[in-house]
Amino acid sequence: MNKRNVLVIEDEWDIAQLLELHLSDANCDVTLAADGHEGMHQAFARIWDLIILDLRLPGPDGLSICGALRRELPYVPILMLTSKTSELDRVLGLELGADDYVTKPFSISELVARVKAIFRRVESLEKRFPSDAESFTAGPLEIDVKARRVLLNDNSISLTAREFDLLLHFVRHPGHVFSRANLLDSVWGYGHDGYEHTVNSHINRLRAKIEPDPSQPSLIVTVWGVGYKLDVDRVAKELGKTSRNQPLISVR
Ligand code: CA
Repeated sequence: MNKRNVLVIEDEWDIAQLLELHLSDANCDVTLAADGHEGMHQAFARIWDLIILDLRLPGPDGLSICGALRRELPYVPILMLTSKTSELDRVLGLELGADDYVTKPFSISELVARVKAIFRRVESLEKRFPSDAESFTAGPLEIDVKARRVLLNDNSISLTAREFDLLLHFVRHPGHVFSRANLLDSVWGYGHDGYEHTVNSHINRLRAKIEPDPSQPSLIVTVWGVGYKLDVDRVAKELGKTSRNQPLISVR
């Protein structure tokens, strides 16, 4: 198996070296960054399989780095290291899109286990959601990519080309939070800087067509201060109302 490229942004050198030692044993190629500036630079210098990010750093702190990464690179997994057990840190880290967090002091075996769990999750997502899949089922929605056709509870609904692309983008990346700028880049393409309000109005029109109650969206939900995501938990609840046997999201 190929080595995983892991960036560790941690100013406590003994912890950083401990991580390097044990992750190398777990078939990772580890790069260390000892402060926020170096970490930010390294984070964008290449594609990482995982970034381990300490919350409190000299220079930009873990939260601002996490926010910047999520705006630019929505897919890179992030594991946050926090020194405080306060709920605030946890919630903030997760709202900004960290995939998991570990509170210091941690046991190295627990941390390595979490890292492996993230890799397993990414691997199974990659298998389940190949970007060239031809059709998706997400809760009450069925999407035929080639025919560009969408069924809602078995009834055909009419979407504009952009609404279709937007919906497909969410379904291909379930649970991922996308900022308006991310969506502009991915769905509209380059050259649309500054048109974030366009995203809002398309999201609203899409919701009007697919949401059971568009004033309280349950499929494409707003993540306050960040953007939007396809809420897989709520899709699951939605499914609970209809059929228990249907998979959450399936691909053909
Ligand atoms: Ca620190």
